[in-house]
Amino acid sequence: VTGFWCEHAWVDGQALAGVRLTVTEGAFTEVVQAAAEVGDEQLRGVVLPGFANAHSHAFHRALRGRTGSGAGDFWSWRERMYAVAARLTPDTYLALARATYAEMAMAGVTAVGEFHYLHHQADGSPYDEPNVMAAALRQAARDAGIRLTLLDACYLQASVDGSPLAGPQRRFGDRDVDAWATRVAALRPDASTRVGVAAHSVRAVPRQAMRTIAAWDGPRHVHLSEQAAENAACRDAFGCSPTELLQAEGFLTARTTAVHATHVTGRDIGLLAAAGSGVCACATTERDLGDGLGPFHALHEAGVPLSVGSDQHAVIDLLEEARGIELHDRLAAQQRGRFRPAELVDALTARGQEAIGWGDAGRIQVGQRADLVAVRLDSVRTAGVDPQQLVLAATAADVSDVVVDGVRVVSDGRHRLGDVGRLLAAAIAAT
Ligand SMILES: [Zn+2]
Repeated sequence: VTGFWCEHAWVDGQALAGVRLTVTEGAFTEVVQAAAEVGDEQLRGVVLPGFANAHSHAFHRALRGRTGSGAGDFWSWRERMYAVAARLTPDTYLALARATYAEMAMAGVTAVGEFHYLHHQADGSPYDEPNVMAAALRQAARDAGIRLTLLDACYLQASVDGSPLAGPQRRFGDRDVDAWATRVAALRPDASTRVGVAAHSVRAVPRQAMRTIAAWDGPRHVHLSEQAAENAACRDAFGCSPTELLQAEGFLTARTTAVHATHVTGRDIGLLAAAGSGVCACATTERDLGDGLGPFHALHEAGVPLSVGSDQHAVIDLLEEARGIELHDRLAAQQRGRFRPAELVDALTARGQEAIGWGDAGRIQVGQRADLVAVRLDSVRTAGVDPQQLVLAATAADVSDVVVDGVRVVSDGRHRLGDVGRLLAAAIAAT
């Protein structure tokens, strides 16, 4: 049994002063406003529940700060991303993902949803162990001390017209949807790993394959309407929007998370809400790639739960992702206060954990997994900040201590693996 005493802790949607937590076997067994007891571990600032990074492509971390020298758009950025994808091996992928997940832990992430499509050898043929790349991700998350939801993505074609995968894309594809399903069926969950599935997008998965993916029992994710060009291609091929196609093929359920949903229509939002599906907003990626401003407030008003993800990792700062929901909406609406700070914290924690299959995490309450993220109130960024509005001011650099399932992974800004900047530099140099 471990006792934690928090200067402030986020309980039931607000920061309370002086909260004592008891943790037994990785779960909270007591949450009370009380004085510290002898032997308690002290956590300063505001202690939030564990952050979920609900949408990640770990290897994209190697592109940060390297694609900004010229003009371009999502599609030209994708060519650079494919070049990295072409070079990775199971060993270099393990090192890169381990360092990237450690960076996430330092930013307060206790669970990551890895949207994984880098499955095979460079020429597209399977490795001897068909899930060796997934095994590398699993080891990486374990080393970094965070939970992993492996969202194994089906990726079968280059575009909606069914044109075959070419060049670096061949690594992403299984022979057909049945081969994909057979490979995914061999993945096993464990104490810190859950297995979910993904359809890469309506571009990359044939319409008739969607139902096979939708039959999966756990979380299912899909990139949805990130680009206006995707909507146009879908409309040309099928006479409907990507959301309408997913709905018609049974893909939209309460376990579904649509990633981005930047260019969805009012009708699409109604379909997502009716199905109980969620949306993962990736604000820093959407601004980095010039995708556009998603209709976050309209989604929220319709009852669609929102989560956040750092996606391509141009930034790994989940506090920034959460406030990006509000700030992007301000730019679109020319109005402030579209979301209450507590709603942003909810997207960052409980909603995000649910979106990747950890409904038993994301709240500081008895019975939940003991994830804790201590955020400083005494840094140059956060001095004077109202604890209730911390999410509007703090950054990843203000995260001082992180506990995952009762185990301390980050202490006073230091990850247990040591110098994560060096790990990242070495891993990126090797790609
Ligand atoms: Zn993505």
